[in-house]
Amino acid sequence: MTEHVPNAENLMNITSRPPIIFERGEGSYLWDTSGEQYLDFIQGWAVNSLGHSPQLLSNAITRQAQKLITPSPAFFNAPSLHLAKQLSDLSCFDQVFFANSGAEAVEGAIKLARRFGELHRNGAYEIVTFDGAFHGRTLATMSASGKREFETLFAPKVPGFPKAVLNNIASVEQAITGKTVAVMLEPIQGEAGVRPATDEFLQQLQMLCSAEGLLLMVDEIQTGIGRTGKMFAFEHAEISPDIMVLGKGIGGGVPLAALLAKDAVSCFKHGDQGGTFNGNPLICAVGSAVVECVADAGFLQTVSKSGEYLCDGLSVLSRKFDLGNVRGRGLLVALDVAGYDANNIVSIAMQHGLLINAPRPDTLRFMPALNVSLREVDECIALLDKVLCKTNTLRAA
Ligand SMILES: *Cc1c(COP(=O)(O)O)cnc(C)c1O
Repeated sequence: MTEHVPNAENLMNITSRPPIIFERGEGSYLWDTSGEQYLDFIQGWAVNSLGHSPQLLSNAITRQAQKLITPSPAFFNAPSLHLAKQLSDLSCFDQVFFANSGAEAVEGAIKLARRFGELHRNGAYEIVTFDGAFHGRTLATMSASGKREFETLFAPKVPGFPKAVLNNIASVEQAITGKTVAVMLEPIQGEAGVRPATDEFLQQLQMLCSAEGLLLMVDEIQTGIGRTGKMFAFEHAEISPDIMVLGKGIGGGVPLAALLAKDAVSCFKHGDQGGTFNGNPLICAVGSAVVECVADAGFLQTVSKSGEYLCDGLSVLSRKFDLGNVRGRGLLVALDVAGYDANNIVSIAMQHGLLINAPRPDTLRFMPALNVSLREVDECIALLDKVLCKTNTLRAA
């Protein structure tokens, strides 16, 4: 990239970014400073549940900002009480701790499980996690993750996260010792390339955890809040976990995350957990607006229908270009592109005005706004068709 982005040298260079600056967004579209339009099927990494800058959220932000931004985490505020009640009414969980990022919520879940182990399981602290898992970028959540690229980073790792193999219950049984307090997983491994835990596996885990007295913890940061066509992805398997973490889509674009637990597991003592911005009214008011909108049965049904429509379109392309598997649930969808360089497809797609992402070198991921229209899905498929033709030509050349 030879183009120069002014002041880019003042941002820590943590990743390679294309030399454009996004200026404005509306629904499924983004515009850069030169006026180019992009159809956005990344949406802030499955974050903008209702698309870019929806009226509902700008109203919620403005209304709350004019009333009260934050009184301090040492005091109650109405929006956090309201959002906690909404989440508990919608789920099998009773108590909520709000956080500012997914990793912070997972970090809190790890602490809660360890506290539970200390109180009820003779100091057991190990949490079985899975190969390929992604739980965040703090030291403990990187240690809990099963990403091969993380293995050698930032030694020494936080101990206590033995790994098992997804959809292999025997591997979980083998990982359990007298020190185990919990099992934690993503119902669908998002960063690993949209790799689902099967409903049967989730049910087996639930039975195993009940039999062994272990906590079942689900990381629904990517799958929760309607993304898979149910409010929470674990509902597909009809299980009832003990702890859940939410992030990404719950804020509709603002930094909000949550740790939820059943009463029997909510065992933090005063001083164990907290944070300056946690549960502030400005952000919780936005979360409430998102949750109220998404929880509507008609809205969730539309997510499932749009997801099927997207999968159908991708399957046609997969056959046409001899690509590979299409998988996902609701609007968390992947297309395997074995034999192609997925990152190359992503950058050609961007030149064609389509934003998609490659969680792995051979996998494309699609995570549009939950209220994406079928016409926008058609547009995505048509653009991707053009991109794949172009990629094919490049390969032939
Ligand atoms: C994104 C993600 C996280 C981390 O959330 P941050 O807000 O980036 O800290 C954790 N778990 C899963 C499943 C995620 O998709």
